[in-house]
Amino acid sequence: MNQRGEAAGRRSGRKLNILDPRKASHERRKRELLEILEPVLGSDDSDSSSIFLCWGKDNRCHIAPVKIPNSADDVTIWQEIRRLWYAHRGDWRKRLNLFGVREVRIVEISIAGRELKGKQRTNHKRFVGTYTTEDLAAEKGRLEQTIASYDPQEFPCPYNPSTGRVNCFSSCISYQLDGITCPEQTLYQARRELSRLNMRPFLTLAFSDPGVATVNGLLEGEGVINTHSGILSKLESWHCPKLGELQFRALIIDEDRTRGSQCVVLLLTVVVIFLMVAGAKLAYGDWGTAWNVGCFLVALATLLWMWANHTVA
Ligand SMILES: [Zn+2]
Repeated sequence: MNQRGEAAGRRSGRKLNILDPRKASHERRKRELLEILEPVLGSDDSDSSSIFLCWGKDNRCHIAPVKIPNSADDVTIWQEIRRLWYAHRGDWRKRLNLFGVREVRIVEISIAGRELKGKQRTNHKRFVGTYTTEDLAAEKGRLEQTIASYDPQEFPCPYNPSTGRVNCFSSCISYQLDGITCPEQTLYQARRELSRLNMRPFLTLAFSDPGVATVNGLLEGEGVINTHSGILSKLESWHCPKLGELQFRALIIDEDRTRGSQCVVLLLTVVVIFLMVAGAKLAYGDWGTAWNVGCFLVALATLLWMWANHTVA
């Protein structure tokens, strides 16, 4: 039956295209993906792009898209990133320095699906997924190696800053031999990429003060700004692409958890000690004994705290 259908399809090429079940399932998969990616793509958002912001662990992270109008400048982009981050994580973090942002990095993410609506209904535009960190040191090492192994030509081709390109002479090896890139072009490209990687710590500075982003073009060439058409073209990378197969580059925000949690432990200890003093008052019926119990607990807690710090150090 199937063979007969295929034969019929071959006889009339146009009909095959319409009836081909593989093509139909590919189209169905694309529609399903568009539905899941609705918070990123929207209905008619072709004049805006998205940046994925993520936080959490590498095997389970939260992902939220930041919508950026294509006309937005660098400072506006960073203001929007900051606004969205605090909208998702709570405005109180701005005032409480203990839960501050430690670092902003660039990672590769895979989206597993939409996050459950749960308690906060506003969160349903978020995704869950995983991320992998790139080996920055290895990448820098590779570029340094390229620069170190540069072998100048007899007449080195000059770099033209006004166009950002290398003006090749007719004696350039790239003209004489097919498939060989101009050595000067390779050198300048490696130098520029290395300088971009060396500026990565600026991402954290721009997050805390968006003004830093002016004339620094921190997201240029990093591939974290996803245009509407760029995302749509990812849907065509495989036959029936799976959601997790669509890879995106994203900004990850690392929080200063240790300082925050230390402060919480300290506060809890104080509360517990006061409760135990109150309990001792009820048990012994006199404040003198209760405060003695309290003093003993404070001494014990201090001893444990010092011991814990010594062990960790
Ligand atoms: Zn050249």
